[in-house]
Amino acid sequence: MDYRQTNLPPKADILIIGAGIIGLALAFALQKRGAKTVLVCAGDIGDGASGASAGMVTPVFETLHWPSTTKQNLKKIADESLIAWQGLEKKLHHETGRSIGLDLSGAIALPDFSEGAGQSAFVSQLNALAKAQDLSWQEHPADLLANLAGGETKNTVKNLTKGLLAKGEGQIAPRQTCNILAEAITNSGGLIRSHISVAVLKKKSGRVISVHLSDNRSIAAKKIILATGATTKKIWQENFPCPIYPVKGQALLLTAPPEVSFAQYKGPKVLRGDKCYICLKGDNSLLVGATEEPDRDDLDLDEGQLKDLLLRAEKILPGLSGLKRIRAWAGIRPGIEDHAPILDQSGQLENLYYAAGHYRNGVLLAPKSAEIMGDLILEEKKTDPLFALGRFSPRFSPR
Ligand SMILES: Cc1cc2nc3c(=O)[nH]c(=O)nc-3n(C[C@H](O)[C@H](O)[C@H](O)COP(=O)(O)OP(=O)(O)OC[C@H]3O[C@@H](n4cnc5c(N)ncnc54)[C@H](O)[C@@H]3O)c2cc1C
Repeated sequence: MDYRQTNLPPKADILIIGAGIIGLALAFALQKRGAKTVLVCAGDIGDGASGASAGMVTPVFETLHWPSTTKQNLKKIADESLIAWQGLEKKLHHETGRSIGLDLSGAIALPDFSEGAGQSAFVSQLNALAKAQDLSWQEHPADLLANLAGGETKNTVKNLTKGLLAKGEGQIAPRQTCNILAEAITNSGGLIRSHISVAVLKKKSGRVISVHLSDNRSIAAKKIILATGATTKKIWQENFPCPIYPVKGQALLLTAPPEVSFAQYKGPKVLRGDKCYICLKGDNSLLVGATEEPDRDDLDLDEGQLKDLLLRAEKILPGLSGLKRIRAWAGIRPGIEDHAPILDQSGQLENLYYAAGHYRNGVLLAPKSAEIMGDLILEEKKTDPLFALGRFSPRFSPR
């Protein structure tokens, strides 16, 4: 659908700025709870970090990236979000007849046991994870592609390696999901307008009275939500610096040999290595990700870094580097130091809210973030301290 021509009303109940997975999941949740939303975004639907993401929903292995201060609480929310994805998948299928590609066949971490000291740090991390999360090491085809080509499903697996398995985790198709959410939002009466950006928030007496758009029109909204991802800094309204910073990620997509079929493969389709991962996608492509480059907000591709990524991935999936590249791309994550997003009301402007800073986990956390924001916006529930703005400002007085 083309959202460029949508006529925007001069007034809105709830205006959401940003149509990444966070703004979209929120608009859909609010519509379903009886609210009326208008969503605007600077580019196409999902063309920020969300469309660039791998779509993994893997709470267990993400804990490896989270600091000890937030790990436990974030894991609980991420687990709840993974369950929420299953409900959301059904709802979206019911509303649109389309599939978001949710595949929960498991995620497996595969260290390269042939390597020396550097690699053993990853093995120790995984051993600690196994103990903390009660996970077990499983046998896995050492040369998965060759085994799949030779008919692994007919029990011809020969060479095995060990991997740490997280059952019930997996992935979605992120860009497709953004488009399906957009369709479901408009089906339920929400308005979406793409290719228009919010330049200025006009304020009076501690409130935002209207937002000024790039086509020189304004919308007055009762409540405004910034779901603006990595560029939130540009529109930040608090009296302390924005804690969200860009973290560039480069990734690439390869095509599997024609004799290989991921659709028939029943094993875990998310393979995690040391500083790389591979997602076996439903269309027989392999997504290899991703670099992590803090404070970079350009979308330039660096062939050297992509080659390094492929070399790391090749260690967990031999044969990979010989596969044909479909494309490579870069996206900008909304980085935040403690890896917990800001899901809170502004401390300065009473009708302004933030749903931003999801760093590596916006896809994973989208349904739960939408639920928390819905409670905050519609029921005036306080946010969890984990997601409070106040954690970044010692001067902030909690409401
Ligand atoms: C390579 C890569 C791989 C990743 N893999 C995963 C993964 O496997 N699992 C996972 O959970 N997460 C993953 N992530 C992270 C995830 O993509 C992000 O956390 C998530 O997409 C953030 O969503 P968002 O909606 O906040 O931001 P975005 O998707 O960036 O959306 C922001 C939106 O705001 C709009 N906008 C900004 N400013 C304005 C303005 N002034 N006016 C109007 N519109 C505006 C933009 O146009 C855009 O629509 C990955 C990220 C990258 C880069």
